[in-house]
Amino acid sequence: MKKVLIVGAGLTGSVLARQLAEAGVPCVVIDKQTFVGGLCHSRRDEETGVDMHVFGPHIFHTSDERVWAYVQRFDRFCPWVNRVKACNHRGVFSFPVNLHTINQLFGKQFTPAEACQFVQSLQDKRFPNPRNAEEKMLSLVGREIYETFFQGYTTKQWGVSPAEMPADVVMRIPVRFNYEDNYYNSKYQGFPVSGYTQWITNMLTHPLITVLLGVPYEHGMKEEYGHVFYAGPIDEYFLYAEGDLSYRTVEFKVMRGLGDMQGCGCMNFSDLSVPYTRSHQHNYFSPWEHHDRSVLMQEFSRASTRESPKFYPVRMKSDMEILRRYTRRAEAEPTVSFIGRLGCYRYLDMRHCVLLMLEFAEKWLEWKKKGSAGKPPMLLEA
Ligand code: UDP
Repeated sequence: MKKVLIVGAGLTGSVLARQLAEAGVPCVVIDKQTFVGGLCHSRRDEETGVDMHVFGPHIFHTSDERVWAYVQRFDRFCPWVNRVKACNHRGVFSFPVNLHTINQLFGKQFTPAEACQFVQSLQDKRFPNPRNAEEKMLSLVGREIYETFFQGYTTKQWGVSPAEMPADVVMRIPVRFNYEDNYYNSKYQGFPVSGYTQWITNMLTHPLITVLLGVPYEHGMKEEYGHVFYAGPIDEYFLYAEGDLSYRTVEFKVMRGLGDMQGCGCMNFSDLSVPYTRSHQHNYFSPWEHHDRSVLMQEFSRASTRESPKFYPVRMKSDMEILRRYTRRAEAEPTVSFIGRLGCYRYLDMRHCVLLMLEFAEKWLEWKKKGSAGKPPMLLEA
Protein backbone atom coordinates (compact mmCIF):
# COMPACT_ATOMS: atom_id res chain seq x y z
CA MET A 1 0.00 0.00 0.00
CA LYS A 2 1.18 3.54 -0.73
CA LYS A 3 2.62 5.31 2.29
CA VAL A 4 0.35 7.57 4.29
CA LEU A 5 1.03 10.85 6.06
CA ILE A 6 0.00 11.37 9.68
CA VAL A 7 0.12 14.99 10.79
CA GLY A 8 0.72 15.20 14.54
CA ALA A 9 2.87 12.93 16.72
CA GLY A 10 0.57 13.18 19.73
CA LEU A 11 -1.29 10.24 21.21
CA THR A 12 -3.90 10.10 18.44
CA GLY A 13 -1.38 10.16 15.58
CA SER A 14 0.91 7.70 17.33
CA VAL A 15 -1.77 5.07 18.04
CA LEU A 16 -2.99 5.37 14.47
CA ALA A 17 0.54 5.07 13.05
CA ARG A 18 1.18 1.97 15.13
CA GLN A 19 -2.07 0.31 14.10
CA LEU A 20 -1.57 1.04 10.42
CA ALA A 21 2.09 0.02 10.49
CA GLU A 22 1.20 -3.28 12.15
CA ALA A 23 -1.27 -3.84 9.30
CA GLY A 24 1.56 -3.30 6.80
CA VAL A 25 0.91 0.34 5.88
CA PRO A 26 4.08 2.49 5.77
CA CYS A 27 3.48 5.71 7.74
CA VAL A 28 5.30 9.02 7.85
CA VAL A 29 4.44 10.97 11.01
CA ILE A 30 5.27 14.67 11.03
CA ASP A 31 4.97 17.20 13.81
CA LYS A 32 5.72 20.91 13.74
CA GLN A 33 7.08 20.55 17.28
CA THR A 34 10.53 19.10 17.86
CA PHE A 35 9.20 16.46 20.25
CA VAL A 36 6.65 13.66 20.22
CA GLY A 37 3.65 13.28 22.52
CA GLY A 38 1.66 16.43 21.71
CA LEU A 39 -0.01 17.60 24.91
CA CYS A 40 1.07 14.38 26.71
CA HIS A 41 4.71 15.30 26.21
CA SER A 42 6.79 14.90 29.37
CA ARG A 43 10.34 15.97 30.08
CA ARG A 44 12.74 15.49 32.96
CA ASP A 45 13.35 18.80 34.70
CA GLU A 46 17.09 19.50 34.74
CA GLU A 47 17.02 21.41 38.04
CA THR A 48 15.05 18.95 40.16
CA GLY A 49 15.18 15.68 38.22
CA VAL A 50 11.36 15.48 38.35
CA ASP A 51 9.57 14.17 35.25
CA MET A 52 7.31 17.07 34.25
CA HIS A 53 4.04 16.84 32.35
CA VAL A 54 4.99 19.86 30.28
CA PHE A 55 1.42 20.68 29.19
CA GLY A 56 -0.32 19.94 32.46
CA PRO A 57 -1.24 16.77 34.34
CA HIS A 58 -2.04 13.71 32.28
CA ILE A 59 -3.43 10.91 34.36
CA PHE A 60 -4.27 7.94 32.21
CA HIS A 61 -7.52 6.24 33.15
CA THR A 62 -9.93 3.94 31.42
CA SER A 63 -12.47 1.20 32.11
CA ASP A 64 -12.04 -0.29 28.65
CA GLU A 65 -10.17 -3.60 28.80
CA ARG A 66 -8.92 -3.28 25.23
CA VAL A 67 -7.56 0.22 25.78
CA TRP A 68 -5.90 -0.75 29.05
CA ALA A 69 -4.24 -3.80 27.50
CA TYR A 70 -3.14 -1.73 24.49
CA VAL A 71 -1.47 1.11 26.39
CA GLN A 72 0.49 -1.40 28.47
CA ARG A 73 2.08 -2.86 25.37
CA PHE A 74 4.37 0.17 25.23
CA ASP A 75 5.33 0.53 28.89
CA ARG A 76 4.52 -0.75 32.34
CA PHE A 77 1.92 1.41 34.10
CA CYS A 78 2.23 2.28 37.77
CA PRO A 79 -1.20 2.50 39.42
CA TRP A 80 -2.13 5.85 40.91
CA VAL A 81 -5.38 7.45 42.02
CA ASN A 82 -6.02 11.12 41.37
CA ARG A 83 -7.31 12.50 44.68
CA VAL A 84 -7.92 16.16 44.05
CA LYS A 85 -8.52 18.90 46.61
CA ALA A 86 -10.58 22.03 45.94
CA CYS A 87 -9.35 25.20 47.60
CA ASN A 88 -11.63 28.25 47.92
CA HIS A 89 -12.86 30.98 50.28
CA ARG A 90 -14.71 28.38 52.36
CA GLY A 91 -11.65 26.16 52.96
CA VAL A 92 -9.89 23.15 51.46
CA PHE A 93 -12.27 20.39 50.42
CA SER A 94 -12.32 16.86 49.22
CA PHE A 95 -13.22 16.91 45.51
CA PRO A 96 -15.09 15.94 43.32
CA VAL A 97 -18.16 16.62 45.44
CA ASN A 98 -18.66 13.56 47.66
CA LEU A 99 -20.04 12.81 51.11
CA HIS A 100 -16.95 14.29 52.74
CA THR A 101 -17.28 17.52 50.74
CA ILE A 102 -20.96 17.89 51.68
CA ASN A 103 -20.26 17.23 55.36
CA GLN A 104 -17.28 19.63 55.32
CA LEU A 105 -19.16 22.43 53.56
CA PHE A 106 -22.30 22.24 55.70
CA GLY A 107 -20.66 21.16 59.00
CA LYS A 108 -22.72 17.93 59.10
CA GLN A 109 -22.21 14.24 59.74
CA PHE A 110 -24.67 12.98 57.13
CA THR A 111 -24.98 9.35 56.11
CA PRO A 112 -25.15 8.74 52.33
CA ALA A 113 -28.97 8.65 52.38
CA GLU A 114 -29.19 11.83 54.48
CA ALA A 115 -26.73 13.65 52.23
CA CYS A 116 -28.64 12.59 49.13
CA GLN A 117 -31.91 13.81 50.63
CA PHE A 118 -30.25 17.05 51.75
CA VAL A 119 -28.77 17.77 48.31
CA GLN A 120 -32.15 17.03 46.74
CA SER A 121 -33.61 19.72 48.98
CA LEU A 122 -31.02 22.15 47.60
CA GLN A 123 -31.74 21.38 43.96
CA ASP A 124 -33.21 24.18 41.89
CA LYS A 125 -36.35 22.69 40.36
CA ARG A 126 -36.81 25.45 37.80
CA PHE A 127 -34.70 23.65 35.18
CA PRO A 128 -36.17 20.24 34.32
CA ASN A 129 -34.30 20.47 31.01
CA PRO A 130 -31.08 22.39 31.79
CA ARG A 131 -29.88 24.38 28.79
CA ASN A 132 -26.39 25.19 30.02
CA ALA A 133 -23.71 24.33 32.61
CA GLU A 134 -25.14 26.72 35.22
CA GLU A 135 -28.69 25.38 35.00
CA LYS A 136 -27.30 21.85 35.04
CA MET A 137 -25.35 22.36 38.27
CA LEU A 138 -28.14 24.35 39.95
CA SER A 139 -30.60 21.59 39.21
CA LEU A 140 -28.15 18.91 40.35
CA VAL A 141 -26.57 20.38 43.51
CA GLY A 142 -28.18 23.78 44.20
CA ARG A 143 -26.72 27.27 44.41
CA GLU A 144 -24.33 26.95 47.38
CA ILE A 145 -22.37 23.98 46.05
CA TYR A 146 -22.48 25.44 42.54
CA GLU A 147 -21.11 28.81 43.63
CA THR A 148 -18.46 27.29 45.91
CA PHE A 149 -16.95 24.81 43.46
CA PHE A 150 -18.13 25.37 39.90
CA GLN A 151 -19.05 28.94 39.08
CA GLY A 152 -15.63 30.59 39.48
CA TYR A 153 -13.59 27.67 38.17
CA THR A 154 -15.71 27.25 35.05
CA THR A 155 -15.66 31.00 34.37
CA LYS A 156 -11.85 31.02 34.59
CA GLN A 157 -11.46 27.85 32.56
CA TRP A 158 -13.70 28.88 29.67
CA GLY A 159 -13.57 32.67 29.83
CA VAL A 160 -17.37 32.94 29.93
CA SER A 161 -20.08 32.39 32.54
CA PRO A 162 -21.21 28.77 32.98
CA ALA A 163 -24.60 30.07 31.84
CA GLU A 164 -23.07 30.32 28.36
CA MET A 165 -21.39 26.92 28.39
CA PRO A 166 -22.92 23.63 27.30
CA ALA A 167 -24.00 21.42 30.22
CA ASP A 168 -21.79 18.47 29.24
CA VAL A 169 -18.64 20.39 30.27
CA VAL A 170 -19.37 20.06 33.99
CA MET A 171 -20.88 16.61 33.65
CA ARG A 172 -17.38 15.21 33.26
CA ILE A 173 -17.10 15.47 37.05
CA PRO A 174 -19.08 13.09 39.25
CA VAL A 175 -21.15 13.96 42.35
CA ARG A 176 -21.14 11.14 44.91
CA PHE A 177 -22.88 10.35 48.17
CA ASN A 178 -20.14 8.18 49.65
CA TYR A 179 -16.55 8.98 50.66
CA GLU A 180 -15.04 7.93 47.33
CA ASP A 181 -12.74 10.80 46.34
CA ASN A 182 -11.15 9.30 43.24
CA TYR A 183 -11.47 12.05 40.59
CA TYR A 184 -12.38 9.46 37.98
CA ASN A 185 -14.83 6.58 37.84
CA SER A 186 -12.50 4.47 35.70
CA LYS A 187 -11.48 0.94 36.61
CA TYR A 188 -7.80 1.49 35.73
CA GLN A 189 -5.64 4.53 36.37
CA GLY A 190 -1.92 5.24 36.36
CA PHE A 191 1.23 6.48 34.64
CA PRO A 192 3.69 4.87 32.22
CA VAL A 193 6.81 4.35 34.34
CA SER A 194 9.22 5.51 31.62
CA GLY A 195 7.26 8.74 31.18
CA TYR A 196 4.73 9.71 28.50
CA THR A 197 7.35 10.75 25.95
CA GLN A 198 9.11 7.39 26.11
CA TRP A 199 5.77 5.59 26.02
CA ILE A 200 4.81 7.39 22.80
CA THR A 201 8.32 6.89 21.41
CA ASN A 202 7.94 3.15 22.01
CA MET A 203 4.62 3.23 20.17
CA LEU A 204 6.25 4.97 17.21
CA THR A 205 9.20 2.59 17.10
CA HIS A 206 8.30 0.30 14.21
CA PRO A 207 10.10 -0.45 10.94
CA LEU A 208 7.19 0.97 8.91
CA ILE A 209 6.99 4.27 10.85
CA THR A 210 9.15 7.27 9.99
CA VAL A 211 8.92 10.25 12.36
CA LEU A 212 9.94 13.71 11.15
CA LEU A 213 9.98 16.38 13.85
CA GLY A 214 10.05 20.14 13.42
CA VAL A 215 8.16 19.70 10.12
CA PRO A 216 4.93 21.70 9.70
CA TYR A 217 2.24 20.42 7.36
CA GLU A 218 1.96 21.99 3.92
CA HIS A 219 -0.81 21.26 1.44
CA GLY A 220 1.73 20.40 -1.26
CA MET A 221 2.70 17.29 0.76
CA LYS A 222 -0.59 15.60 -0.08
CA GLU A 223 0.59 14.60 -3.56
CA GLU A 224 3.25 12.23 -2.21
CA TYR A 225 0.93 10.13 -0.07
CA GLY A 226 -1.98 7.76 -0.51
CA HIS A 227 -3.86 9.39 2.35
CA VAL A 228 -3.42 12.14 4.94
CA PHE A 229 -4.56 11.84 8.56
CA TYR A 230 -4.65 15.31 10.03
CA ALA A 231 -4.62 15.83 13.80
CA GLY A 232 -4.04 19.59 13.71
CA PRO A 233 -6.79 22.22 14.11
CA ILE A 234 -9.38 21.76 11.37
CA ASP A 235 -9.86 25.51 10.84
CA GLU A 236 -6.11 25.90 10.28
CA TYR A 237 -6.17 23.12 7.68
CA PHE A 238 -8.81 25.00 5.66
CA LEU A 239 -6.88 28.27 6.10
CA TYR A 240 -9.71 29.65 8.28
CA ALA A 241 -11.93 29.92 5.19
CA GLU A 242 -15.12 29.37 7.23
CA GLY A 243 -13.93 31.40 10.22
CA ASP A 244 -11.88 30.79 13.38
CA LEU A 245 -13.06 28.19 15.87
CA SER A 246 -12.55 29.15 19.50
CA TYR A 247 -10.14 27.25 21.70
CA ARG A 248 -8.65 27.77 25.13
CA THR A 249 -4.94 27.73 25.62
CA VAL A 250 -3.13 27.28 28.92
CA GLU A 251 -0.12 29.12 30.31
CA PHE A 252 1.93 27.64 33.13
CA LYS A 253 3.87 29.23 35.93
CA VAL A 254 6.54 26.80 37.10
CA MET A 255 7.84 26.90 40.67
CA ARG A 256 10.49 24.76 42.30
CA GLY A 257 11.00 24.18 46.01
CA LEU A 258 12.36 21.89 48.68
CA GLY A 259 10.23 18.99 49.87
CA ASP A 260 6.49 18.66 49.37
CA MET A 261 5.07 22.03 48.28
CA GLN A 262 1.37 21.20 48.05
CA GLY A 263 0.66 17.85 49.68
CA CYS A 264 -1.20 16.36 46.73
CA GLY A 265 -0.89 15.96 42.96
CA CYS A 266 -3.71 18.27 41.84
CA MET A 267 -5.42 21.12 43.62
CA ASN A 268 -8.31 23.05 42.02
CA PHE A 269 -8.81 26.71 42.91
CA SER A 270 -12.51 27.41 42.68
CA ASP A 271 -12.57 31.16 43.38
CA LEU A 272 -12.58 33.69 40.56
CA SER A 273 -10.25 35.92 42.62
CA VAL A 274 -7.41 33.39 42.26
CA PRO A 275 -6.20 33.83 38.67
CA TYR A 276 -5.20 30.21 38.04
CA THR A 277 -7.55 27.25 37.79
CA ARG A 278 -5.39 24.57 39.37
CA SER A 279 -1.90 23.73 40.49
CA HIS A 280 -0.14 20.43 40.18
CA GLN A 281 2.91 19.00 41.82
CA HIS A 282 4.60 16.74 39.36
CA ASN A 283 6.56 14.61 41.82
CA TYR A 284 3.24 12.93 42.57
CA PHE A 285 3.04 11.78 38.95
CA SER A 286 6.01 9.42 39.34
CA PRO A 287 5.41 7.94 42.82
CA TRP A 288 8.10 5.30 42.19
CA GLU A 289 10.82 8.00 42.21
CA HIS A 290 12.22 10.13 45.03
CA HIS A 291 13.42 13.72 44.61
CA ASP A 292 14.43 16.15 47.34
CA ARG A 293 13.02 19.04 45.36
CA SER A 294 9.56 19.50 43.85
CA VAL A 295 8.07 21.08 40.76
CA LEU A 296 4.73 22.87 41.07
CA MET A 297 2.86 24.31 38.10
CA GLN A 298 -0.01 26.80 38.21
CA GLU A 299 -2.37 26.73 35.27
CA PHE A 300 -3.77 29.91 33.69
CA SER A 301 -6.49 29.45 31.08
CA ARG A 302 -6.58 31.98 28.22
CA ALA A 303 -8.35 32.59 24.93
CA SER A 304 -6.23 31.13 22.18
CA THR A 305 -4.93 32.96 19.13
CA ARG A 306 -4.08 31.37 15.77
CA GLU A 307 -0.49 31.02 16.97
CA SER A 308 -1.00 29.71 20.51
CA PRO A 309 -0.99 26.00 21.34
CA LYS A 310 -4.60 24.83 21.50
CA PHE A 311 -5.69 22.84 24.53
CA TYR A 312 -9.49 22.82 24.63
CA PRO A 313 -12.12 23.29 21.91
CA VAL A 314 -14.73 25.66 23.40
CA ARG A 315 -17.70 24.45 21.29
CA MET A 316 -20.01 27.43 21.72
CA LYS A 317 -23.10 27.46 19.48
CA SER A 318 -21.32 29.79 17.05
CA ASP A 319 -18.35 27.37 16.91
CA MET A 320 -20.59 24.46 16.11
CA GLU A 321 -22.04 26.42 13.22
CA ILE A 322 -18.54 27.00 11.85
CA LEU A 323 -17.64 23.35 12.47
CA ARG A 324 -20.62 22.23 10.39
CA ARG A 325 -19.24 24.21 7.48
CA TYR A 326 -15.76 22.71 7.87
CA THR A 327 -17.33 19.27 8.07
CA ARG A 328 -18.97 19.82 4.68
CA ARG A 329 -15.56 20.77 3.28
CA ALA A 330 -13.94 17.71 4.89
CA GLU A 331 -16.54 15.44 3.30
CA ALA A 332 -15.40 16.71 -0.08
CA GLU A 333 -11.83 15.52 0.62
CA PRO A 334 -11.97 11.71 0.89
CA THR A 335 -8.16 11.41 0.87
CA VAL A 336 -7.87 13.41 4.11
CA SER A 337 -9.16 12.22 7.51
CA PHE A 338 -9.49 14.57 10.45
CA ILE A 339 -8.56 12.95 13.74
CA GLY A 340 -7.92 13.80 17.37
CA ARG A 341 -9.07 16.59 19.64
CA LEU A 342 -8.17 19.40 17.25
CA GLY A 343 -8.98 17.66 13.98
CA CYS A 344 -12.45 16.71 15.23
CA TYR A 345 -12.84 19.81 17.43
CA ARG A 346 -14.17 17.94 20.42
CA TYR A 347 -13.02 17.15 23.93
CA LEU A 348 -11.17 13.84 23.91
CA ASP A 349 -9.43 12.44 26.93
CA MET A 350 -6.41 10.16 26.41
CA ARG A 351 -8.56 7.07 26.74
CA HIS A 352 -10.94 8.35 24.07
CA CYS A 353 -8.03 9.08 21.72
CA VAL A 354 -6.75 5.51 22.05
CA LEU A 355 -10.13 3.84 21.64
CA LEU A 356 -11.17 6.05 18.73
CA MET A 357 -7.94 5.33 16.87
CA LEU A 358 -8.10 1.57 17.48
CA GLU A 359 -11.60 1.51 16.02
CA PHE A 360 -10.91 4.04 13.29
CA ALA A 361 -7.79 2.22 12.02
CA GLU A 362 -9.85 -0.96 11.62
CA LYS A 363 -12.60 0.85 9.72
CA TRP A 364 -10.19 2.72 7.50
CA LEU A 365 -8.23 -0.47 6.64
CA GLU A 366 -11.51 -2.20 5.84
CA TRP A 367 -12.51 0.69 3.58
CA LYS A 368 -9.14 0.50 1.79
CA LYS A 369 -9.43 -3.25 1.41
CA LYS A 370 -12.73 -2.73 -0.34
CA GLY A 371 -10.97 -0.52 -2.90
CA SER A 372 -11.93 2.77 -1.19
CA ALA A 373 -15.50 2.24 -2.33
CA GLY A 374 -18.14 4.53 -0.87
CA LYS A 375 -17.53 7.16 1.77
CA PRO A 376 -14.40 6.81 3.92
CA PRO A 377 -14.95 6.43 7.68
CA MET A 378 -15.15 9.84 9.30
CA LEU A 379 -14.78 10.96 12.89
CA LEU A 380 -15.96 14.52 12.47
CA GLU A 381 -19.40 15.14 13.88
CA ALA A 382 -21.27 18.38 13.49
N1 UDP B 1 -14.85 22.20 37.00
C1 UDP B 1 -15.25 23.07 37.99
N2 UDP B 1 -14.58 23.05 39.18
C2 UDP B 1 -13.53 22.25 39.43
C3 UDP B 1 -13.12 21.36 38.41
C4 UDP B 1 -13.80 21.38 37.20
O1 UDP B 1 -16.17 23.85 37.80
O2 UDP B 1 -12.96 22.29 40.52
C5 UDP B 1 -15.60 22.21 35.70
C6 UDP B 1 -14.91 23.12 34.67
O3 UDP B 1 -15.92 23.68 33.85
C7 UDP B 1 -14.06 22.15 33.87
C8 UDP B 1 -14.95 20.91 33.85
O4 UDP B 1 -15.60 20.91 35.12
O5 UDP B 1 -13.78 22.61 32.59
C9 UDP B 1 -14.20 19.61 33.62
O6 UDP B 1 -13.19 19.48 34.60
P1 UDP B 1 -11.95 18.53 34.45
O7 UDP B 1 -11.18 18.54 35.70
O8 UDP B 1 -12.38 17.22 33.90
O9 UDP B 1 -11.14 19.32 33.33
P2 UDP B 1 -9.84 18.93 32.48
O10 UDP B 1 -9.01 17.99 33.30
O11 UDP B 1 -10.34 18.35 31.23
O12 UDP B 1 -9.22 20.25 32.30
